[in-house]
Amino acid sequence: MDLEKIRNGARLILEGIGEDADREGLKNTPARVASMYEDVLSGLKVEPASILEPMPSDRHQEMVLLKDISFFSMCEHHLLPFFGMAHVAYIPSEGGMITGLSKLSRLVQVVSRRPQLQERMTSTIADSMVEALQPLGVMVLVAAEHLCMSMRGIRSPGTQTVTSAVRGIFRSNAATRAEVLSVINARSDI
Ligand code: ZN
Repeated sequence: MDLEKIRNGARLILEGIGEDADREGLKNTPARVASMYEDVLSGLKVEPASILEPMPSDRHQEMVLLKDISFFSMCEHHLLPFFGMAHVAYIPSEGGMITGLSKLSRLVQVVSRRPQLQERMTSTIADSMVEALQPLGVMVLVAAEHLCMSMRGIRSPGTQTVTSAVRGIFRSNAATRAEVLSVINARSDI
């Protein structure tokens, strides 16, 4: 990441809005913004499917569901955060691959820590799991609040945008989809 470019850009924004970029409170802001972007956009450097580290499983084909994975992402249209919860489910194929629960959580972080759209984030998580695990099915639900909607424009604080990506058996079988939704609904709100 070119931190000097980000520092210069942040300074230009401050000048553009008519601020004195050299006043006490602002003089270190470009450097802070640059290191903040380096942190919150750190997922850009990572190929999502590569972090799942698949391993063989001899277990039966039971559903694995990780819910309430909190994440923070950055809307690529406005460079304002959107944030919320992701819920990720998959059913391994027979003799197929599984992954650690912490790896699924890390996948969500890597995909969210980049300039992003919620729809693309949701489908990238699902497609990365399909690519790495070749499971019977994958279902991903993401519920998020977008500050570009809450702070500006139509101003609707608290509104949740919900997106889903459904692959394999979850697409063809309504009962398996319902199973995921009932587990998620058991404690959270979508
Ligand atoms: Zn936006």
